[in-house]
Amino acid sequence: MDLPELTFPITVDFIEDSYWIGAVGPFKYGEAATAFLAGEGFTASADDDALTEELAAFLKDFGGSLKPYAHVKSGSDIPKAGPADCLVGYGFLTLDVGPVPAERYIFSSLRDFLYVELGKAILKGNAPRQCRLCGNWFLHESGDRAMYCERTAPGEDGRTCREAGARTVFEKKIQEEEAWKLYKRAYKKYYARFMKGNLSRDDFKAWTEQAAADRDAAIERMSSTSDAEERAKITEQLQKQLNKL
Ligand SMILES: [Zn+2]
Repeated sequence: MDLPELTFPITVDFIEDSYWIGAVGPFKYGEAATAFLAGEGFTASADDDALTEELAAFLKDFGGSLKPYAHVKSGSDIPKAGPADCLVGYGFLTLDVGPVPAERYIFSSLRDFLYVELGKAILKGNAPRQCRLCGNWFLHESGDRAMYCERTAPGEDGRTCREAGARTVFEKKIQEEEAWKLYKRAYKKYYARFMKGNLSRDDFKAWTEQAAADRDAAIERMSSTSDAEERAKITEQLQKQLNKL
């Protein structure tokens, strides 16, 4: 849902997992901060850069507690943020089901609204996150494992980042499995030689150590490139390395 044009002061009703701006909603917690960071749905003003910086810093300090990115350390470096200026009261929000009790905030600036909206989102386990493919912000909801947004991916005929990203992960997984397959096949071969007495125990042991290292190094190199040709080359090299004894 697109955010309405905001003319301050605004009244925002927060209910359990969504909120309403005036009579417009529902919005998900974190939706407004995400839209702001992504540069969508808000008119640009001179203060935008400062606010972007503030929200990004807030997200970095507090969003780090979101699983699986927990990195807040105990001790003196626990961050603090705030405060926001707003009025808080309680009221009834009229929905289709009838009047629903709501926490009603009155915000007189965009900064105060986004600050509280982002804070509430983080406490809910929602947060803006940057897409691993296009780099733009999207709302990551609690329990969601998405790393990619649902915009059209750059250079991908109409495919979304999420679709393109899932395919990349899938292809990488196939490549990793290929490396393991080569390793297992070679292992079987050298194990058979060792059992027949054609390969000493020490040589076999040395081979397994070297082979495991070569396999892991190949997987590592594969995961750092998205070029299919490069990865095919790595697979080919690995096959030679594993079978040179
Ligand atoms: Zn994206």
